[in-house]
Amino acid sequence: MGKLIVKKFGGTSVADAERIEAVADNIESEINAGNKVTVVLSAMGDSTDDLIKLAKEINPEPDLREYDALVSTGEQISVALLAIALLKRGIKGKSYTAYQLGIKTNSSHSRARILDVEVSKIISELNEGVVPVITGFQGMNESGDITTLGRGGSDTTGVALAAALDADECQIYTDVEGIFTTDPRVYGKARLLKQVSFEEMLELSSSGAKVLQLRAVEYASKFNLPIRVLSSFNEGEGTLVQEEKNIMERPIVSGISSIDTEAKLTIRGVPDIPGVAAKILSPISDAGIEVDVIVQNIGADNTTDFTFTVNEDDTKQAEEILKKTSTTLGGGLIDVDDDIAKISIVGRGMRAHAGVASKMFQALAKSEINISMITTSEIKISVVIKKSEMTKAVAALHDAFDLDKELDE
Ligand code: ADP
Ligand code: ASP
Ligand code: MG
Repeated sequence: MGKLIVKKFGGTSVADAERIEAVADNIESEINAGNKVTVVLSAMGDSTDDLIKLAKEINPEPDLREYDALVSTGEQISVALLAIALLKRGIKGKSYTAYQLGIKTNSSHSRARILDVEVSKIISELNEGVVPVITGFQGMNESGDITTLGRGGSDTTGVALAAALDADECQIYTDVEGIFTTDPRVYGKARLLKQVSFEEMLELSSSGAKVLQLRAVEYASKFNLPIRVLSSFNEGEGTLVQEEKNIMERPIVSGISSIDTEAKLTIRGVPDIPGVAAKILSPISDAGIEVDVIVQNIGADNTTDFTFTVNEDDTKQAEEILKKTSTTLGGGLIDVDDDIAKISIVGRGMRAHAGVASKMFQALAKSEINISMITTSEIKISVVIKKSEMTKAVAALHDAFDLDKELDE
């Protein structure tokens, strides 16, 4: 019996008419093999970036309901074009927006979360031999307003649909062959991974590997739904993201992620007393700003310095909030540094091995890279360094942990 497959194609995979025709060919061969297919698409190429730029030309802080109404249009174009290409091949392609299907989200415009996916319509279409082609990245809230799921959110639409449909396979097609040991555009010696665990992928995605949106991995992990990440340009098996227990290999470090779009803020000379961290961070989180790495220095003279990183887009707002906090707390100056990058090494094998951190720090020292912040979790170590040293650091760590070499366990 045929399988039910959900296929999601990213922006580069639908960047122009030729790429859309290639996607239609992919679907045609799946249909010819007797399978049922539901498709989720991103907007073409950089069109989401272009729409955001346009909105910001008018207002750098656009109203978020209208921002969502605008940026969701990109996906509406690509789904209609693919349906046209499928119909040309005699396949019953039919475009759908999230609105038409009832993909329900909360009301957090520009970063909404999916609450419920109504699949009865899709199922009846599939039974009629239709290939539903669905807009990724968007949903609707309780009031019927259009929402979007955050950058890279089409991955989450794909996974959420695959889970709701109980699909046999969830395939995420992108512009690289799968998940690599590090971003292959940052380091040429990056190696394609055959498989990676949900847990490792969660850490990689949350620390900058944009190949899969974090929420997509959270969703897949929650529903124990394996995801295959593949190239829409080249044939190959790609990478299977799945439950840890199915993976035999256990390298100490599985992958390295890097991100250079954060900024570091420091509030100096705040009183070193209980409750200060909460007083500093609460107004930041109340403003909807996500805080990443946090460091509180050892106090001296009953005062301390407190440093944390945020997304660079939130820097100005965070700085304004800190200035107010500093006045109320009787603190000192605020420093802002956006010349930073964060490098993280991730691996389940770290649990069973001591000395991983020191090996990481030695490798960075050998390359004369200075570390300004360090943070760890059970299977991840992250360091903040200068932005200009990001590529050098990734290469040094990739080499130090021999990530270009296949494990022969
Ligand atoms: P899409 O438009 O298909 O969703 P994205 O640009 O969102 O594609 O994600 C794919 C990109 O993710 C790749 O081009 C690559 O530069 C980047 N990337 C970052 N880390 C990794 C990694 N570990 N493995 C593969 N790609 C990665
Ligand atoms: N088009 C949206 C973005 O560029 C969603 C996606 O591509 O996943 O972020
Ligand atoms: Mg993406």
